[in-house]
Amino acid sequence: MNHRSGAILVLSGPSGAGKSSLLNEVIGDIGECYFSISTTTRPIREGEINGVHYHFVDEAEFKKDIEEEFFLEYAFVHGNYYGTSIKLVKEALKDGKLVIFDIDVQGNATIINRLGDITTSVFISPPTLSELKKRLEARSTDSQEVIDRRIDMAKREIQRISEYDFLIVNDDFAQAAATLKTIANAARVKIPANEINDFARKWEDI
Ligand code: GDP
Ligand code: ADP
Ligand code: 5GP
Repeated sequence: MNHRSGAILVLSGPSGAGKSSLLNEVIGDIGECYFSISTTTRPIREGEINGVHYHFVDEAEFKKDIEEEFFLEYAFVHGNYYGTSIKLVKEALKDGKLVIFDIDVQGNATIINRLGDITTSVFISPPTLSELKKRLEARSTDSQEVIDRRIDMAKREIQRISEYDFLIVNDDFAQAAATLKTIANAARVKIPANEINDFARKWEDI
């Protein structure tokens, strides 16, 4: 049993920066965690599985979820809606798990606003914009038009690095993964401000 409630790790960064690849690499080594599966209106890519990578829904369903206050946060990103549902996140936090979000810069701002106390945020950046372009083209999951839009967005997203606790430049993959592992393990033991006094009081009684 965990001695404390859970914590949140937010990963953001331009499309193609390596968020999913890095997370896949380290997720087996960071103890009990829960990856928050977002809901999105983006079309499903080849190789993606509904309910594993995302919950894929149409716009009408997404808007109904907004009205029913189903989302902890949601945002319109690269022409599609993306949102994090509250229910499973709450359960995972109660179980003392590290809850991991792969969300955009707008989503990070909302999470910090609502749950900043227990949140550690990491911005994952490509080494250069031209390398980012190469990776998106090599991944070949998106059309040229979509890639161009994502590169354009990357320039704006990178301006918001100061809103994050940590920056990982994903140049050497193994090194970036090792850094992410260190940060994830530290995020788990970050002390929420409201617990500091409780903890100190316990010691006064001894
Ligand atoms: P990828 O980044 O190339 O893998 O493309 P995706 O279509 O999977 O994600 C596009 C953007 O949406 C990324 O910046 C994600 O971090 C972001 N995103 C995914 N899920 C959520 C979410 O639930 N909320 C918010 N705010 N952003 C999300
Ligand atoms: P994101 O989830 O941020 O959109 P991905 O994890 O899908 O990014 O990575 C984008 C592409 O770049 C993938 O094809 C991945 O294999 C590749 N990639 C990730 N990290 C590196 C790296 N350090 N060096 C070279 N290629 C990388
Ligand atoms: P579960 O609650 O068991 O995770 O999911 C039950 C069903 O609800 C699945 O078909 C799943 O795709 C869908 N679902 C899960 N999360 C969301 C969400 O955030 N929004 C919507 N619209 N459907 C979801």
